[in-house]
Formats: sequence, C-alpha cells, structure tokens
Amino acid sequence: MSKSANQPRDAAMTNVSLSDRAYRIRRNALRMGEVQGQGYIAQALGIADVLAVAYFHALTYHPDDPEWEGRDRFLLSIGHYAIALYAALIEARIIPEDELESYGSDDSRLPMSSMASYTPGVEISGGSLGHGLGIAVGMALALKCKKSKSFVYNLLSDGELDEGHTWEAAMSAGSYKLDQLIAIVDVNNQQADGPSTEILNFEPLAPKFEAFGWYTQRVDGNDIEAVAAAFDKARGLIEPKPRVVICDTSMGKGIPFLEKRERNHFLRVEPDEWQKALAILDAGRGQ
Ligand SMILES: [Mg+2]
Repeated sequence: MSKSANQPRDAAMTNVSLSDRAYRIRRNALRMGEVQGQGYIAQALGIADVLAVAYFHALTYHPDDPEWEGRDRFLLSIGHYAIALYAALIEARIIPEDELESYGSDDSRLPMSSMASYTPGVEISGGSLGHGLGIAVGMALALKCKKSKSFVYNLLSDGELDEGHTWEAAMSAGSYKLDQLIAIVDVNNQQADGPSTEILNFEPLAPKFEAFGWYTQRVDGNDIEAVAAAFDKARGLIEPKPRVVICDTSMGKGIPFLEKRERNHFLRVEPDEWQKALAILDAGRGQ
C-alpha cells in the first residue's frame, strides 16, 4: 500500500504493516478486557482495522505532543468504545503500554468511558451519545476560520444515528461545506437493546448523508485496504463537502467464539476465555 503524505512523522512508527497494527490493537484491547473481565470488547475487535488505518495511515500527529496545534483531531463520540481507542493510542505510543494494566481501575487514566480530561490523545468526553458529530462540526468550523489545514475525524456508531443531534450536525456540516470534516460511521448493526436497524431503521444510509451534502463512501470496515483507500479519497477530495466513510464491521472480528456470542453489545467473558481469545489472535498471526 502506498504511504500517505500525512502519515505520522515518527520514523519508528513506520515499516509496520497496517494488519500488524490492527492485530496489536486487538491484542491491547483483549489484555485490557481481561483486567476487568467484561466490557465492550466486541466493538473494539470490530473497529480495530479502522483504527489501524486512522492512526497509522491517515492522521497526522506527534505521539510526544498529543496537543500539538497542527494535529488532526480524532473525536470518539462513542465513549464506551474507549477500550478500542486506548488500544490504538497505546500502539501509537501516546499512552504508555504499562498503563494498560490499570484499565478501568480507581485512579487510572483509562476509565471505561473515555474522558478528555483524563487521557492523553482523547479529544472529547464521549459518554453521552450523539454529540460527537456536533462537536466535530464546531471544531472543523473553528479550524477553517483559523485557516488551519488540520482535519477533524469523528467516529460514531450506528446507534448514534437514532439521535436527532447527529442529523442536525450532518445538516450543518453540509451547509457550511466543511471539507476538513471526515465522519466514520461504525455500522455493526448492534446497539444496547438489539440490532440497530430493527430498533430504528437508518437504511439506506449513504443516500441520507448524500442528501445532506456529504461526499459518501461505504466500505467493508474489516478490509484494511478498502478502508485506507476510502480514507485517502475522503481526504484528497477537492470538492468543498464534508466526507463520510460508512464502515460495515463485524462485532468480535477475529475471535470466532465472540463473533457468535448472542447479545454481544456488552460482554462478560469467563477468565479462561481471555487467554483463549489471545491464543486465537496470536495463532492468526503465526505466533
Ligand atoms: Mg453499533
């Protein structure tokens, strides 16, 4: 895969394949899950490929200076995906790996729902769902006014499509022609109460964003090459429009017994199963 001009500038972070990055992100997430014995691990496994592309192909940032003004912003509006974001931030060396063992514990910088004031590299607090895209619109607008070239990425869930704020933000982004805004929708068709499309059907999704003035792509979110190509197109588009990459992902991706588990929005995993999951993951990498 060709290298993007906006890859991280830390030379030590290059020369590792995106699939290896995704593997390590999944591994970090499983290790954190094991600390608490439960969590939103199925979402983390599902979104790991997208996060690998985001942090190791698309975003510009300095690991040693997470608040560097010239960085691209990555906004996680789904606070309960914190375990996935921490796994990526650990791989990106923004969070030290040895903090992984503190996940979800008292006085940890890694609370179970992401909070900006606690954790390096976490841009917003995302526990209250449906607000990330609105915040991203404000940030993108502010950056545009400041003549910054930085991009704002917002990862939101299909469950957040139920929220009116999401669509108000989408309409605003189109109206303001926010060409530095890239939304990523994780369509795993699962939310707390069941399959997302059965709770409030959002399909057909791509035409909705198009109607709001967005440049829209839909890809298999577990196909790293496809995700990277979509991110490149989103970033490289000349047309003055906000961009969205709708990513269809599989909950629990890579660990078959978690993929198949019923009601896997929040998983309690038996102590021995964490090691079993890690062994399956490692076996898939030939280790
Ligand atoms: Mg979902």
